[in-house]
Amino acid sequence: MKGGRVELVDLSKRYGSTEPPAVDHVTLDIEPGEFITLLGPSGSGKTTTLNMIVGFTEPTSGRVRLNDRDITQMPPHKRNFGMVFQNYALFPHLTVAQNVAFPLRERKVPAAETERLVGGALDLVDLAGMGNRRPHELSGGQQQRVALARAVVFSPSVLLLDEPLSALDRKLRQTLQREIKRLHDELGLTFVFVTHDQDEAMTLSDRIAIFDAGRIVAVGTPAELYHRPSTLFVARFLGESTVFAGRLVAPDVYAWHDRKWTITGRPRDGALVVRPERIAVALDEQSVPAGANTAPAVVTDVSFYGTFHRVELAFGDDSVGCTVLPAGTSPAIEPGARVIAHWRPEDQVLVTAEP
Ligand code: ADP
Ligand code: MG
Repeated sequence: MKGGRVELVDLSKRYGSTEPPAVDHVTLDIEPGEFITLLGPSGSGKTTTLNMIVGFTEPTSGRVRLNDRDITQMPPHKRNFGMVFQNYALFPHLTVAQNVAFPLRERKVPAAETERLVGGALDLVDLAGMGNRRPHELSGGQQQRVALARAVVFSPSVLLLDEPLSALDRKLRQTLQREIKRLHDELGLTFVFVTHDQDEAMTLSDRIAIFDAGRIVAVGTPAELYHRPSTLFVARFLGESTVFAGRLVAPDVYAWHDRKWTITGRPRDGALVVRPERIAVALDEQSVPAGANTAPAVVTDVSFYGTFHRVELAFGDDSVGCTVLPAGTSPAIEPGARVIAHWRPEDQVLVTAEP
């Protein structure tokens, strides 16, 4: 088994006795070989959690386990985890090859073996032939590849990445995202990835743990969290939504202002959420399919994204939402147009509103 199983058991961290906990009773099982992402706004406790996994930060309470063994008190170097940071953290005076060799030197790996492993790691990140350069002779993306090579050269069972792509521009970030995914597939290690970027989390992860104020508020696959968010926070944080703050008036009826909508599935009192690709807009009642839930809306904005248009909708004074239309559809959908938004009852989700 190449990838380690990491268990966080009721993990908490308080930096000061008067401050709220930075990490608040976090429990999470990370499967061997899994790509899991900790996603949350800035200050929600992601880095602190990662640092407790790697051993840089001592938990105030709770346990960390690796392959069923308690490692809470084990020093970082003994855990043998790879780590990649946002700012690369390369040694500027060392060459690329020396940077990558650094963890092997610490581990007293013989020279011939070191050379072989460094060559392999540089190949892995597409930097073969760059071994003699210094970090300042490389682009940001290349520097982060060096950091990746250095983090995996000693065959760790777990790789922890703290916002590794946040300093790169969009195009480069997408390229490196693919590289990181390929690295995960090739190496079979457990990846724990931290980001505040929802798109990055969605495209890379087997599962996402969503953090809010030091707590994990949801865990699931990207599809589960997107299609079946349990709370309004999750729905808002991951992807776009149209949110109606109405209420359940019968087990199968949801009311919002003068609208009465059909509920299928489990009733839940809270907000009603519809994802953009599940909402359609019609110009008249006749075009609305039977059985659909409907709401009159005004188009407030149409933006062109190449393959689709993003259409912003206002529903009265208290609800805004959006839908997406394939490029080349009705020119009548323009700002100011009055439309009927409609969706199938099975395409909406009832979520609990925040406490
Ligand atoms: P994230 O990585 O999600 O942005 P962090 O784990 O860095 O969140 O921070 C969580 C909370 O803990 C924040 O309120 C932050 O200010 C606080 N914090 C983080 N590191 C320290 C520290 N070394 N000393 C005191 N407070 C800290
Ligand atoms: Mg952080």
